[in-house]
Amino acid sequence: MARTHIHGFPRIGAHRELKFAQESFWRGESDDAYLRGIAKELRARHWEQQRAAKLDFVTVGDFAYYDQMLNLTALLGALPERFEFEPAALSLAQYYELARGNKAQPAMEMTKWFDTNYHYLVPELGPHTTFNGGVDWFFDEINEALALNHTVKPVLIGPITYLWLSKSHVAGFDRLSLLPKLVIRYMRILEALKQRGIEWVQLDEPALCLDLEGEWLEAFSAVYDVLGASEVKILLATYFDTAADHAPRVAKLPVHGVHIDLVRAPQQLDAWHRTLPADAVLSIGVIDGRNIWRADLSKIVGSLQPLHAERGDRLWIAPSCSLLHVPMSLASEKRLDADLKSWLSFATEKLDEIGTIALALHDPAAAAPALTAAANVLDARRSSRAVQNVLVQRKVAAVTDAMASRKSPFKDRSRVQQHSLKLPLLPTTTIGSFPQTPAIRQARAAYKRGELRALDYLERMRAETASVLRKQEELGLDVLVHGEVERNDMVEFFAEKLWGYAFTENGWVQNYGAQCVKPPIIYGDIYRPEPMIVDAACYAQSLTDRLIKGVLTGPVTMLEWSFVRDDQPRSTTALQLALVMRDEVIDLEKAGIRIIQIDEPAFREGLPLRKTDWAAYLEWATRAFRISSGGVSDATQIHTHMCYSEFNDILPSIAALDADVITIETSRSSMELLDGFGAFAYPNGIGPGVYDTHSPRVPSVETMQRLLERACEVIPAERLWVNPDCGLKTRGWPETEAALSNMILAAKSLRQKIEAERSSAVELA
Ligand code: GLN
Ligand code: ZN
Repeated sequence: MARTHIHGFPRIGAHRELKFAQESFWRGESDDAYLRGIAKELRARHWEQQRAAKLDFVTVGDFAYYDQMLNLTALLGALPERFEFEPAALSLAQYYELARGNKAQPAMEMTKWFDTNYHYLVPELGPHTTFNGGVDWFFDEINEALALNHTVKPVLIGPITYLWLSKSHVAGFDRLSLLPKLVIRYMRILEALKQRGIEWVQLDEPALCLDLEGEWLEAFSAVYDVLGASEVKILLATYFDTAADHAPRVAKLPVHGVHIDLVRAPQQLDAWHRTLPADAVLSIGVIDGRNIWRADLSKIVGSLQPLHAERGDRLWIAPSCSLLHVPMSLASEKRLDADLKSWLSFATEKLDEIGTIALALHDPAAAAPALTAAANVLDARRSSRAVQNVLVQRKVAAVTDAMASRKSPFKDRSRVQQHSLKLPLLPTTTIGSFPQTPAIRQARAAYKRGELRALDYLERMRAETASVLRKQEELGLDVLVHGEVERNDMVEFFAEKLWGYAFTENGWVQNYGAQCVKPPIIYGDIYRPEPMIVDAACYAQSLTDRLIKGVLTGPVTMLEWSFVRDDQPRSTTALQLALVMRDEVIDLEKAGIRIIQIDEPAFREGLPLRKTDWAAYLEWATRAFRISSGGVSDATQIHTHMCYSEFNDILPSIAALDADVITIETSRSSMELLDGFGAFAYPNGIGPGVYDTHSPRVPSVETMQRLLERACEVIPAERLWVNPDCGLKTRGWPETEAALSNMILAAKSLRQKIEAERSSAVELA
């Protein structure tokens, strides 16, 4: 009979117990022992859930007090040297100092885990790094699970993925040179597992789903040749994309099993099945670990029957990847529409789906009722009027190529805009949000709880808007924003105004550390019953003679930061989102708003892991943006905003968005990013952020002017804008006013300098 397991379970707890215990520990309100107690309870509960679902293994090692990569760093003893901690004696308090920084040292860098929204702590390795062993938490947890009589399958991130995701501050240092030392440590760990009677260990190597260079693949073979000699059987886990190109390589290695992600890359099954030796375990990820829909169990079971007949108990059934990326359980959703709820499956429900599949393969009659129930739910979902909206579908069918283009090319538009907007050289603006004071947050919360009436709430928000506008006028910004006072979250705010979106009460997903997000769910065709921000933008415009920039969230970001439908391609959902944003943009223009910013901070995030898939994504993502922005006249200026770095490999697509102005993050890299824009000869307007809004530091006028001068070397001043890196929502007012005031002084001073140079050049001529 096929066996069942998972790669990992959400660790935060059904009521975010871990988050609250962590935060109380950080505030010094509770001690080490209390936090450890909560953690132990959570682990025991989650293991028990796996046992109750009759999984063949209970997965241990997926728990982390902050992050699984940091846990591995602590287990290996590879702590960043700058902290000067004793690896084997690392306390929880010190562990958190690594994650969050202390008085002397900034935190370890954090970055996105593959293409998820989970962030891990980047190992800092160098020539002196050793892996002589650190804390024993991993083994303690295994002992705990064994004491509870579970069949334990420990999980660790594998050495290749660990190294690949790490970085070194030493120039020219080759991380692969650490591999021999690292492998020795892994061998020791495997030995320790053997001593505990462990049969299988899961080593996660999602890096195999990236475009790995030759030397990394060679290293991979070398490592597993060694590790495979251990007495513990290794299940090599790949996920998030296909690893089929490595099947022949893996088949030659002494690993005992491989896990593959058949949700993201179903086409890889054949290659693996054909290539892997008959006695190897093939673990197939058939339940989506990245999304929240109930699976088509009958279809899965049907497709697996021949495979099961051949492989028997060497076929393992699993979710595609760790369940860390989905919420915990539907049990705590009391307000969700009953139909919608019946279509969903969170981590807890996914355990049952795994069990049902295995049962159906082994004993079809016993599983029949569960399969029928699942099929009925799916039918209901397919035909639901909440999902299928003919008004939307008609609009989608009527989309033309012309809708994806502005009327005239940028050069002509920019002339028209210059004439009508009359902006100075180096115009100053902000990215949209201003500090959200406790008063704003309290009002919003009270309104959501129904304690503040709609009209009272509107009045408060208008008062806040008025005050934000006054401040911007006093500061002397050229293009003003209404300040996004009414927005808690740039996606949720719009999602709440659209049909086809739903919201959970407790659908928390760990983003990093104690930070959780509750992504909205796109379940149906996206429809805009009425304008969303026209009222707020017009109100702002009525208070000032200066230009107001309307700010809304772009289709790709709306898609990326939500749980999306799995019953149609992402590109179709993106198109629907593009159409509603297009209508909003057109309505803003009609209402007299002449500058409109469509934020796309998640544009780059959407890139597939494999480069071969980039072109297809960029094609539909770019088109979605162009459709959202393409409905306005030449005189209306379209801006877009993207946070942070790494544009250089997608610059042609950024240019293809054809926004009149793009604002980007550049201050932290002292404008390095701009070199790419310069070399590529980016054709449109650009606002390289001149200061970092993620820190309360107030840079001097000179610093910002220097950055601007550097920008002028790459982009002609006519096309340059002056703005911060990102929104100011999380900043306080004092530093915001100080920084913006310096920013404006820097712009003015450079403006005068350039104009003086120009007039003297004219005189000379
Ligand atoms: N307009 C948004 C803001 O200013 C943009 C946020 C973002 O890029 N993440 O808050
Ligand atoms: Zn941003």
